[in-house]
Amino acid sequence: MGSFGLILHVQQAWNNVQFDASTDSQASFSTVSDWLNRCLTTHTICHMNLSATPPTRVVHIPESGKPRLLVTNENTPAFLYTTLSHCWGSHMPLRLTTGNIEALQAEIPVEKLSRTFQDALEITKRMGLKHIWIDSLCVLQAPSQIGSPSLHQWPRSTPTRTAI
Ligand SMILES: [Zn+2]
Repeated sequence: MGSFGLILHVQQAWNNVQFDASTDSQASFSTVSDWLNRCLTTHTICHMNLSATPPTRVVHIPESGKPRLLVTNENTPAFLYTTLSHCWGSHMPLRLTTGNIEALQAEIPVEKLSRTFQDALEITKRMGLKHIWIDSLCVLQAPSQIGSPSLHQWPRSTPTRTAI
């Protein structure tokens, strides 16, 4: 149904890295966090790719409690976030519409999200990040639309550059 991708700029020899057998282990997440921190602190070219302008809408994941939709404005400081884009085909996931945008700003019901979405939120949180951009939750969808986000929404709401 979808996939969650993480692209990091890893500037070190692969044979120096010890990988844990499970991608779900604390050791694996420590390795990924170490890559991310190294990328952000030592790679000049990666700093150039950090966007100063956050996306129009993003999912905020608090330390505790339910995630919610965050609508940014020109005063919102830049932050790191993960992204998840997918094609949902005939299955209609929970998606952002003018009818639920207010409710989703108060709370996003995680139990109504697909397993892919739930995993993406969990991975983001375990990486120590608090925001994720998911197309169906951050781009306004037409009520009857199936298959893909409204194309006219893409230029304004889609992140132009992503940190990770
Ligand atoms: Zn880098």
